[in-house]
Order: sequence, then C-alpha cells, then structure tokens
Amino acid sequence: MAKYEVVIVGGGPAGFTAGLYASRVGLKSLLVERGMFGGQMVNAALVENYPGFPEGITGIELGSLMHQQAIKYGLEVVTAEVTGITPGQPYGVSTTEGSFEAVSIIIAAGSEYRKLGAIGEERLSGHGVSYCATCDGFLFRGREVAVVGGGDTAITDALELSQHARKVYVIHRRNQLRAGQVLQQQAFAQPKLEFIWSTVIEEILGEEVVKGLRLTNVKTKQHSILEVSGVFVAVGLMPNSQHFFNILELDDAGYIVTDETMATSVPGIFAAGDIRRNSARQIAAAVGDGATAAMSAFRYLQERS
Ligand code: NAP
Repeated sequence: MAKYEVVIVGGGPAGFTAGLYASRVGLKSLLVERGMFGGQMVNAALVENYPGFPEGITGIELGSLMHQQAIKYGLEVVTAEVTGITPGQPYGVSTTEGSFEAVSIIIAAGSEYRKLGAIGEERLSGHGVSYCATCDGFLFRGREVAVVGGGDTAITDALELSQHARKVYVIHRRNQLRAGQVLQQQAFAQPKLEFIWSTVIEEILGEEVVKGLRLTNVKTKQHSILEVSGVFVAVGLMPNSQHFFNILELDDAGYIVTDETMATSVPGIFAAGDIRRNSARQIAAAVGDGATAAMSAFRYLQERS
C-alpha cells in the first residue's frame, strides 16, 4: 500500500494550498479529489473577491491554476472519493480507488448544497432546479422563478435573480427571514420580489423541465400550484464530513472542530476550509487555512522524526 507523509482530502482552494505548501517543504503528499479541481468555486461564474485578480477570474480557471501550481512541486493527485479513515499510525485512508497509508491527514472536503428533498428535485436538477443563482440566473431572463429559503444566500440570490427574471418568488417555511437586516431591507424594496410565507415545496413539477411547484402552507395546510420556470434552492450548506464522524470531533451541524493551528481532536489529522467549524466560507479564508494546516502537519511530522 502506498504510504504518504500527508494525504489531503479534497481539491478545493484549501486542499490545493495545503498540497502546494506540503510539497514545497518536501513532504511526500497525495491529494484525493472526487470531482472537478476547485471544489465549490467551480460554480462561480466570476470570482471578484480573491486578491490578485483585479478583473476577476472564473472559478474553474482559478481551480485549474491552483492544481497546476501545486503539482509543479510534486503533489500527487488522484481522482477518487475518500470513504473513511482508520485510526492508528500510520492512518489508513480508504478511497474508491484503493487505500493509502498516511502519517498525517488534512481534511479539506468542503461542503455541499443542502437538498430540499422535494419530489422531482433530483430528476429536474439542471433542468430548472438550480443551487447557484450566479451560475444559472442568466438562463431565466424575462421568466418567473422561485427561490427557496430565508437566509442570506436565499435573499442574495433573489436580489441577483431580480436582475434577470421578470418576477422572483421567495418561498420560506417561516413567516420571518433569517437574513441580515440590510439584505432584508433591500429585498423588501425590490418590487420584482414576492414573498410566500410559511410555505414548503412538496413537489417540483415538469416532465423535461420545471413547469411549476406544488406548495403547502404549513399553517393552513392548504395546497397550491405556482407556475415558475426555475427554482433556486438556497437552504444552506452541509459539510462533507459524513466519513469522519466516527473518528473526529464534530459540532452539532457536522463541522469539524479545530484549533487555530487547524488541528482536530485527533493528533496528526488537520482540517481546513469550509468543512471546519467557524470557517468564513471564502476562497481567501480557505487558502489561509490550507497553508496553516500544511505547516502544522509539517511540524507534527518533524516532532515524530
Ligand atoms: P442559512 O443561514 O443556514 O439559512 C438557510 C435557510 O434555509 C433558512 O432560512 C432555513 O429556514 C431554510 N431551510 C433550511 N432547511 C430547509 C428545508 N429543508 N426546507 C426549507 N427551508 C429550509 O444558510 P445560508 O443562507 O446559505 O447562509 C450560510 C452562511 O453563509 C451564513 O452564515 C450566512 O450569513 C453566510 N452568507 C452570507 C452572505 C452575505 O453576507 N451576503 C451571503 C450568503 C451567505 P429557517 O430560517 O426556518 O431555519
């Protein structure tokens, strides 16, 4: 079984920065990524708040550049999904493409969009069901769409969609928004937005593409149909920590608990980026976490030798 000094789980900005730093200090390092290089940021049509790119850069391009820069220094990369870590020294890292041994591990597996669980959601995903207003909003120019959720993301998405769509319904399960006051004020002042309170989506309707929503008012229990061409699900994020709960301390929401050195509850295992508790959920913050985690892993390895 191949043995590495560091195995990095996840190829987003945190993972590739950890890989860059680890390989540059000469650690035998492997990064395991299950999808596209870049993680969540590949969904961003234009990243405008990552320093060094005054004109902005697409998330896909930034992910590709981070990959190129890290492998230049010897980082090995495999496309696979990590399915578990076994305790011991070295740790075992099992993946869909085989198992590896690791003296230290950096978990940078990020988070993913929480699904609604409504009938038709999965089937119509990419056919009118979207989780990214920035990526797909322009497809709905002049149409009527809905946003589900009451947090900052839902309201930011609704405001962004109002630039393209003719009308934007905001469907929220309660009668009060969770979003910050400034966003709320902007939303209530935007005439294209209409709020549907205390309502959940039971079913997303349509054969090939979204045609409408079957709604239930949770107070009156009344059902209704809303005709829309698209639905943007913005009901929060879920950390990709399901394979690590048996070994690491997680908070109530499933985020990995770390200290400021990115150390987790288990010696030699570090976490970086969106998957850790109190992450700022920004590319720039993930990059900082990744660098810190790699330096901590380096110190851990030095202390053991
Ligand atoms: P969030 O704050 O967790 O809000 C999720 C929303 O979805 C809540 O309104 C919640 O309803 C609703 N919800 C959750 N599960 C649902 C379900 N199964 N069915 C229907 N509705 C459901 O998530 P977020 O808005 O993605 O924000 C995540 C973090 O990023 C927050 O810390 C936020 O402040 C930050 N953020 C900031 C900005 C900004 O500052 N511009 C923009 C985006 C995100 P309840 O309210 O009833 O729980």
